[in-house]
Amino acid sequence: MAKEVYQFQAETKQLLDLMVHSIYTNREIFLRELISNASDAIDRLHFESLTNRELLGDDDKYEIFLLPDPESHTLTISDNGIGMNREELIDNIGTIAKSGTKAFMTKLKEAKEASAAVSDKEMIGQFGVGFYSAFMVSERVTIISRKAGEDSASKWESTGDGSFSIEEAEKEGRGTTIVLHLLPEFCGDKAEEDFTDSYLLQRLVKKYSDYVRYPVKMNFTVEETPKDAEGKPLPDAEKIKRTEVRTLNSMQPLWTRNKQDIKQEEYDELYRSLFHDWESPLETMHSKAEGTVEYTALLFIPSHAPFNLFHTDYEPGLQLYSRHVFIMNKCKDLLPDYMRFVQGLVDSPDLSLNISRELLQQDRQLKLIGKNLEKSVLGTLEKMLKNSREKYEKFWAEFGKALKIGVYGSMYSGENTADKLKNLLLFDTSGESAALSTLQEYKLRMAESQSKIFYATGKDRASIENLPQMELLRDKGIEVLYLFDAVDEFAIEALGEYEGKRFQSISRGDLELDDVEAKEDKKKAETVAKSNEELIRDIKEVLGAKVSDVQVSSRLKSSAVCLVAAAEGPSLAMEQAFADAPSPMFKARRILEINPGHELFARLQELHEAGKDNESFKDYCDLLYTQALLIEGILPEDPVGFANKVAKLMAK
Ligand code: ADP
Repeated sequence: MAKEVYQFQAETKQLLDLMVHSIYTNREIFLRELISNASDAIDRLHFESLTNRELLGDDDKYEIFLLPDPESHTLTISDNGIGMNREELIDNIGTIAKSGTKAFMTKLKEAKEASAAVSDKEMIGQFGVGFYSAFMVSERVTIISRKAGEDSASKWESTGDGSFSIEEAEKEGRGTTIVLHLLPEFCGDKAEEDFTDSYLLQRLVKKYSDYVRYPVKMNFTVEETPKDAEGKPLPDAEKIKRTEVRTLNSMQPLWTRNKQDIKQEEYDELYRSLFHDWESPLETMHSKAEGTVEYTALLFIPSHAPFNLFHTDYEPGLQLYSRHVFIMNKCKDLLPDYMRFVQGLVDSPDLSLNISRELLQQDRQLKLIGKNLEKSVLGTLEKMLKNSREKYEKFWAEFGKALKIGVYGSMYSGENTADKLKNLLLFDTSGESAALSTLQEYKLRMAESQSKIFYATGKDRASIENLPQMELLRDKGIEVLYLFDAVDEFAIEALGEYEGKRFQSISRGDLELDDVEAKEDKKKAETVAKSNEELIRDIKEVLGAKVSDVQVSSRLKSSAVCLVAAAEGPSLAMEQAFADAPSPMFKARRILEINPGHELFARLQELHEAGKDNESFKDYCDLLYTQALLIEGILPEDPVGFANKVAKLMAK
């Protein structure tokens, strides 16, 4: 049959246009796409040969061959797979049938209509666009293919400009040979990337197609120094050039091997090379599932948190493979965000190569895999906490924050993350051993009469231990959790309670201690408040908007004042965590508590006798308030005014 020219389907044309003109930077993925097509073609032949052995003839060694040729500016990729006949070349290559590619086109259209917030470049990166990616690097593409079991071959050719031609061709043996006539930018010494460079190709195969199950081979020219009869090298003789066929891919991914046969060093090696870490992982999890969904997962917990773990430029996610062919880096949809520190990969035959990120999100299989993985990581952490405490504490020091953010996040996500994580949380405490404690351990140490779990916030151990509010609890021998990180209290708030015990900040609301002494102290404070109603009211008036209330304290022992937050609404620490935000969402309702037993209280009463407008009374009120702020680690709004008042007082 003579040469015929066909027009591409409209959508194909559009896609091709995009390939040719796109400024997409990651053009090298064309190789992955073509190799994976070749591998699929061999898969299909292999499958058919199971019932029709004759298809193989005497060529039963499956392989994919790369042939770079710098002279003719071509890169040839051939396979001895199933091949295509004339009709198939027209049908398969000329039209976009694959759902992934179709979805890509639809998305692209949508993005364009929505004023193109997403660039083409980003879009293509998210999709595998199969054969058409060849046009990202080629000015012309020639396919010569011969279908297994047929005698004739056909040649397909296109410059990607809207039409392609088909004619008869000669080809020895079955399979497909694709010749890429490379664009000038992609071959030769001056090229941005030279796809006729054997070493570049070798690297790309290693990077993207290492685990393809058929050998990807290439000729390498090696130069050798000739040797004399005794085998000694002859350095002056002209070097001998020899061609050597090398297989570029390892073909067997570690994770497909039996767990029992894999040494930890092998896992470590793979982890370091895949995830570019100098250190070995803290924990390795290798699991396999069969049944409703089939996959192998290899997950790692690194030994150290990356510096940007919580920055927006950190990209969490796992690598995805489908039948050992790499599809995607950083797939975010598999693990919940609080597991953003987990590295690893999932290899599943249920995933399609051309799957897009958007489709992934809806993929039921993927959701199922995700749920399993989350469970397995949680299980591993629980086991680690139980059986290797030291290792767990190391983990906690690096990644504990992620779990705490997870607990906090569950307030908004509606998921039961807080529940899943509550037993994995560790806290510093006022306990004698100064060891980190789980909530369970704290609860076991609680006295029977203690109805709440107490916690205190501060920047470190010393600043919490110096808080006036701590004195009372220390005296009563009540253990207090120490929260040093801003997110801690948010997490505690999200939890609300632990096994029926509510959390109580020592700097918020009423402590509701119910021992006899505490009840008496409370009564005493109430009596003092009653008999000093006017004083309290006037202090409040002097302080104005700075405080929402002034109270006679029952929680202070030796200190004169403290600042607490109302039981409802944010705490002071929460307020401070948001202090830098442009519009502070969190404002604590500040309550100034005054110790009726302190001598300063008597002094206040004295000064108050001269009336609330007395300058000294006003100064004292202000100084007391500022002191309370400083104790909490909050800078006064007017440091100079504060210093002046102190100086005035000292000079008296
Ligand atoms: P996809 O691989 O996602 O189906 P492509 O555009 O890459 O999309 O390829 C379209 C079709 O062309 C394939 O589905 C396959 O039928 C055929 N094809 C591509 N490459 C080869 C090959 N090397 N051997 C045989 N058939 C091929």
